[in-house]
Amino acid sequence: MYQLAYNIDFTDINDKIDIYTTFDEIPLPIKEFIKEISTKFLLYNSYLDIFYCSKCYSQLEDYTCPKCQKTYSSTNHKFIIETSYMEYETSYYFFDYSKDDLILYEVQEKTYYDNPISFIPYKTSRYYIKNAYRLTPEYLTDCLTGHNYYFKDLVFLDNDSYDFSEEDFQLFNLFYENKNFIYTSNFTELIKNNMYKYSNINLLKEYLDNNVFTLATLTYYPLYCKQFEYLVKLHLYNLACFSSPSFKKQNSFKAIFGVDKKYLSFMQEYDININILKALQLYPCTDISLLTFISRYLPIFKDLITYINPLKLQKYMAKEKMTEENIYEYEDYITSCAKLKLNLKDAKVLYPKDFFHSHDQVTAEVIFLEDKDIDKKLHNLANIYYFNIYEDDKYIIFPADSIKSLIDESTQMSNCVRSYGSKVANNECQIYFMRNKKQPQKSLVTIEVKNGSVIQAKTKYNNSVNDEMQKVIKKFAKSLLSIEFDQ
Ligand SMILES: [Zn+2]
Repeated sequence: MYQLAYNIDFTDINDKIDIYTTFDEIPLPIKEFIKEISTKFLLYNSYLDIFYCSKCYSQLEDYTCPKCQKTYSSTNHKFIIETSYMEYETSYYFFDYSKDDLILYEVQEKTYYDNPISFIPYKTSRYYIKNAYRLTPEYLTDCLTGHNYYFKDLVFLDNDSYDFSEEDFQLFNLFYENKNFIYTSNFTELIKNNMYKYSNINLLKEYLDNNVFTLATLTYYPLYCKQFEYLVKLHLYNLACFSSPSFKKQNSFKAIFGVDKKYLSFMQEYDININILKALQLYPCTDISLLTFISRYLPIFKDLITYINPLKLQKYMAKEKMTEENIYEYEDYITSCAKLKLNLKDAKVLYPKDFFHSHDQVTAEVIFLEDKDIDKKLHNLANIYYFNIYEDDKYIIFPADSIKSLIDESTQMSNCVRSYGSKVANNECQIYFMRNKKQPQKSLVTIEVKNGSVIQAKTKYNNSVNDEMQKVIKKFAKSLLSIEFDQ
């Protein structure tokens, strides 16, 4: 197929590019590479928890097939295919020339695992050329649509996001859900090309064989981002392949990475990603589990770092049997302590005994601080709303009557009803608790009533109520008396 290619100013047609359009046309070594990869996959049925040999479909006990002796590498997820997907897509990339033009091809393999009469996986594959991109130092042309993507138009914002159009984003940075592979045997030739001459992309061969990458990894970063070459040279492959535009040219290691050069060997050992780097900037250390924790909750740690030592916090949370997600409650606790002007340099304040109890106490105090009469108001209103208490043989529904009751409900149900204190006190809405009569202390359903109607009824973690509860709540809703106040 011929593709018309315009020059950079769109003023003239440069040339016709002759590109491969069918799988049959592509060079033999590439076909062999594709076929070789295609047989490397280990088939896995997660439903039955069984691995199969992809060559003879025998069930595998270990990494060597008992029937055909084919051996598999155990660790790399890139080569494991889940057979319960009936259809699977694999992408193979390769660089090639058309006259003077450098073209990057994407061949797609569609694999079908479908055998209705047997539980043994059965594989058929279909190959076709999905895309061909013509490369220049400034832009990339999609040879099928003729669309030019200018690298300078791809604005990389600081927080790992791009100011891309949806289309550009998909093209350059989508993490392919399918497996992707690149033919690296011609990389030695590739770096003779002026565009890739100083890219160091040939040093990425092994990395690319074993990890997923994006189109940006192969084009935009090595062709356009100055730090790609430097990151690859330092063996910081993850940063090079996914975050090259985050790094500016600076005079020193410290200026580029925001951490001391003594961390380089650690960064290399774990081939850290950009979020681990940000965690490292926040709290320089070589504890990968701690840095991973910090990297998952970066904005929270950015706030907390003025008060706490992350390592101490991690140990404290383990001691208090808190999960990583409880970091949200911890932040809430510290914010409340700050509002109460407690001494945040005191270890007893920072790491209290019985965290959850202290958390409830402190958050309650903040509510009181913001409105001293709130508890009195809640109590007085509850005295009126007791008219609406509803009960049947099994359940009872009654109004919240204190800050303490709201906080207790909030903690038991993991919902945010604790923050309803002032709304309820100002009679903007009412909160009722539905409980089992046999266990009246144990939260079951939190109900919000507004203008005499039930507007929300939720179980733990804001889940919906079941049919039986729903019927009871409907009866309760019908029985509600609308109470008017003279203000
Ligand atoms: Zn086999």
